[in-house]
Amino acid sequence: MRRLPTFLSLLLLLSACGTNERVDDVFHPMGGIPMRITAYDISNSRFREVFEEIKERVDVLEGALSLYIQDSDLTILNEKGVSDVSEDTLAVIEQAMRLCKNTEGAFDPTVASVIELWTYAEKAGKAPTDEELSQALERVGCNKIETSHARSRVRLTQPGMRLDLGGIAKGYVAAEAARIMQKRGITRGIVDAGGDVVVFSGKGDKLFRVGIKHPMSTENVFAILSVANGAVVTSGCYERFVEIDGKRVCHIIDPRSGKPAKGLLSVSVLARDAAAADAYATALFVLGPEDGFALAKSLPEVEAVFLLEADGGEKLRMKATPGLTGKLELAE
Ligand code: FAD
Ligand code: MG
Repeated sequence: MRRLPTFLSLLLLLSACGTNERVDDVFHPMGGIPMRITAYDISNSRFREVFEEIKERVDVLEGALSLYIQDSDLTILNEKGVSDVSEDTLAVIEQAMRLCKNTEGAFDPTVASVIELWTYAEKAGKAPTDEELSQALERVGCNKIETSHARSRVRLTQPGMRLDLGGIAKGYVAAEAARIMQKRGITRGIVDAGGDVVVFSGKGDKLFRVGIKHPMSTENVFAILSVANGAVVTSGCYERFVEIDGKRVCHIIDPRSGKPAKGLLSVSVLARDAAAADAYATALFVLGPEDGFALAKSLPEVEAVFLLEADGGEKLRMKATPGLTGKLELAE
């Protein structure tokens, strides 16, 4: 998997209105994702305590949910097929299963077996064959996961089946950081976990302006969402991809075909819960400009901005759900 050297957050926080004192700091968990914590109306020493608490909590979550850590819950579950897991891991897997159902499988954490084929394909320099894909697809489907609360146990019912929570866990981590801030009495703050942005403000009239990056020139902001409370998460293929035979292949896989998703440049989702926003952004990207847009419009908890190519790639077209009227503007 490649990451462009300028791995900036998919969304830039432009500015927040108001004159309150602001404190912020950044750390780099989950393989170097910049996670910036910003709080208002708080002393520096109090902020340090909250920041350290967030870092510790994120470390625990990463230790449970990462595929890059050998003894994480997820790595062990994938190796053994059945495993007792932490409450967090169970919560993320169950939320992923619910979102899989809500998106008719467009978001599906069991797509891991197919993702592995594409990761291997990058090393081998050639795309997986249809036969390899259809074999891997036999291990895909969220109805193939069983969970038990009595023992906080997860079972993958097909031999060789695997889970990848990369499309939801970053949102879960961001939501947890915001929850800690609020629990510690911070009434206004921002969490930006490499493009998964959570904002909250007790004073609901003070809006944050969250920028949606231009997918073709990622230093620039294309549009701005004004939000008081909620999560804004973007999925796109412009910063993370594999390269096969000189061609960029998207890291988001369509679980119906096993092939990389195409049709959109990016989807940004606004929702109350950051984990849900993260998973929906991935799902809407898979579903594309027509079916994805129809799904977004049908979900009361989701608003979305779709960016796609127009005029043979000359122009950018934006489609936004009606609930964003008055909240979305084009950047200058
Ligand atoms: P999103 O669009 O939110 O999600 C895409 C990701 O979801 C894909 O990369 C894939 O993992 C998965 N996916 C693809 N298609 C689907 C689908 N249809 N349904 C469901 N899921 C799908 N990266 C590193 O390089 N090194 C690390 O050490 C590292 N550690 C991490 C630890 C944790 C806890 C997490 C959450 C992520 C970590 N990552 C690490 C990043 C990870 O590998 C993913 O690339 C990242 O989470 C993708 O986020 P995104 O916002 O770019 O993409
Ligand atoms: Mg996602």
